[in-house]
Amino acid sequence: MIPAPFDYKRPGTLEEAIALLREHGEGARLLAGGHSLLPILKARLARPAVLVDIARIPGLAGITKTARGLLIGALTAHHEVETSSLVREGCPLLAEAAGRIGDVQVRNRGTIGGSAAHADPAADYPAALLALEAVMLAAGPEGARRIPALDFFTGPYESALGPAEILTAVEVPSLPPRSGGAYLKAAQQASGFAVCGAAAIVTLDGGRIASARLGITGVAPAAYRARRAEEALAGGAASPGAIQKAAALAAEGIEPLDDFHASAEFRAHLARVYAGRALHEALKRAGG
Ligand code: FAD
Repeated sequence: MIPAPFDYKRPGTLEEAIALLREHGEGARLLAGGHSLLPILKARLARPAVLVDIARIPGLAGITKTARGLLIGALTAHHEVETSSLVREGCPLLAEAAGRIGDVQVRNRGTIGGSAAHADPAADYPAALLALEAVMLAAGPEGARRIPALDFFTGPYESALGPAEILTAVEVPSLPPRSGGAYLKAAQQASGFAVCGAAAIVTLDGGRIASARLGITGVAPAAYRARRAEEALAGGAASPGAIQKAAALAAEGIEPLDDFHASAEFRAHLARVYAGRALHEALKRAGG
């Protein structure tokens, strides 16, 4: 299908892009990699009057190491996150999640900022960003602000960004010593989107689990942290039995999605199974 007609703007700076969003209000949509927006436009599920193409604004792409961890520009493509030596060494969980997104073409064009802002309930990054307790950096008419990932994914295709705000970068804090992470998913066969994706981080203290973090995507209307499972592991034995018991709580208190890809019951089952597998793998990588 062919999109409805739209005007096309390519601002040269972040400030110009924000000004265009302010000027055109609800009629404007940002364009980054286009791999979520263009299918929506072609299906005429959205008819923005103006596309504001931010893809070539300088300073919004790339990965740098900071005192706190990694700073990943919003326009950084999934492929770069997947293959960056900084990410593979500093945050292998995120590289693993990026490498499971769609296919090569999607990973070459799609951006971490576009994926996060789009907040697709079946996207891979949100589970990893929640588990990593990333901070989302946004800029808008009122200036810059930092939004914890834990407050960012507010609903299906909804984020904490204001109407004229642009996600500029994602800050990923370093993990404590003796931590291991893993991202595993059950992919929808045609698109690769997650029917269930589990991002687990386990931190050890001696022979015990000091803390565990578990982000789940694809199962609920928005990605979530499986707090009951995490609490069951904190301070306890680093044993397969403990992980199995905790993983059984991965869909506790959640109302799973129910659609033609998977029933609610099956999604809850997948959450438990993939939580268990990801936690086991994370424990192994932590050295347990
Ligand atoms: P765009 O499509 O350009 O924009 C998406 C939305 O975000 C738009 O509303 C846009 O206005 C807004 N936006 C973009 N950048 C910003 C910003 N910096 N600040 C604020 N708002 C912004 N994703 C997965 O996670 N897992 C998969 O397995 C997967 N499979 C896919 C398979 C196919 C065939 C396709 C086409 C896509 C798939 N995707 C998958 C989605 C893909 O990851 C997209 O690239 C990503 O969701 C959107 O990033 P983008 O840069 O392309 O954003």
